[in-house]
Amino acid sequence: MKITKIVSHVLQYDMPEELGYSQQFYARRSAHLVEVQTDDGIVGWGECFGPGNIAIANKGIVEKVIQPMILGDDPLDRDVIWHKVYNLMRDHGQKGMPMQSLSGVDIALWDIAGKVAGLPIHKLIGGAHRNKVQAYGYGMMLKRESVEDHVARFADEAAAIRDMGFLGAKMKVGLGPKKDVKLCEAVRRGVGDDFKFMVDANHCYTTSDAFYVGRALEDLDAYWFEEPVAPEDLDGYRELRAGLKVNISGGEAEFNRWGWRQILENRGLDIAQPEVCALGGISEYLRVLALCHAHFTPVINHVWGSAIAVATNLQLLAAMPPLPGGLNPWEPMLEFDTTDNKFRDDLLANPLDIQGQVKSSGGYVSIPQAPGIGVEPDMEFIKRFEIAS
Ligand code: CA
Repeated sequence: MKITKIVSHVLQYDMPEELGYSQQFYARRSAHLVEVQTDDGIVGWGECFGPGNIAIANKGIVEKVIQPMILGDDPLDRDVIWHKVYNLMRDHGQKGMPMQSLSGVDIALWDIAGKVAGLPIHKLIGGAHRNKVQAYGYGMMLKRESVEDHVARFADEAAAIRDMGFLGAKMKVGLGPKKDVKLCEAVRRGVGDDFKFMVDANHCYTTSDAFYVGRALEDLDAYWFEEPVAPEDLDGYRELRAGLKVNISGGEAEFNRWGWRQILENRGLDIAQPEVCALGGISEYLRVLALCHAHFTPVINHVWGSAIAVATNLQLLAAMPPLPGGLNPWEPMLEFDTTDNKFRDDLLANPLDIQGQVKSSGGYVSIPQAPGIGVEPDMEFIKRFEIAS
């Protein structure tokens, strides 16, 4: 079996409204799907993390840098391919866009391996530790509006996410520490006393500002405080984790086993959030997961992107061993973006209908059982939204 062609599909559409997080506003949704074709007709699908112009640049890396390295290789040799590509790109990118690009290719190779075996990826990894996974919803994005309008909207949206059936709600912050605490209070009011809520700063704080917000989160009994400081600030993470009661989470902007080794040995995370579509694909995710568990750090995957990314993560969440295990074990969750995303909701011929599943099953989502990642994109849909580049 041979790889005959690798195609990147960058999809985009203008969203009904502009949304923001602590770093920027955005008005366009994008997705970057990777299609690996083979000589016996099996096609594998993967996805690369990275929106907008990042996706367009990553398409160039996938098609012009990685493709020539592995054309003609056996797609089942995915670990050999991973190391060949990584070693050849090492001098030019051990983190960031080259790793995002390799991730999409690696996921597609796992999809092919599953299709050849006739098994879903969770079976290839070693089986399902759970047949359904609980989901949390994120929303409560920043907008160009007053603090008062944010406060009112966040309280309403928090209640709406709870009422959709999700088992937790995650909000953005980024207006500044004092204003952000007002938003967090609004979300606690919105969801009520006995409901999980999480706060995502997208690394906008200094360590001292993160302590200020983090102490308020302790009083509000928030479940986790995500990316409080810059991912490079390992000392800041360690100090925050040692000094705050709220769980410190992060890691979506970290790459491969060597990057993860550093943040885990630094002891700065209560909860690790690896992003499979960025850190190096499924092959590398499994190594990072083992590293996290070697440090007894629980994992809740970072999930962003299209239905391909969601299905990939469902496979991985099914196959994640319990840590440390028990009659009533700590369980991972599926991260689910409740804002407008056609590439997640309408990409598949048979949609996952996550929102419908969450609503009807008390916050749970089932694991796709078809071979590979378990879903197939609709080529007509892809053609409709693919941008020329
Ligand atoms: Ca995040």
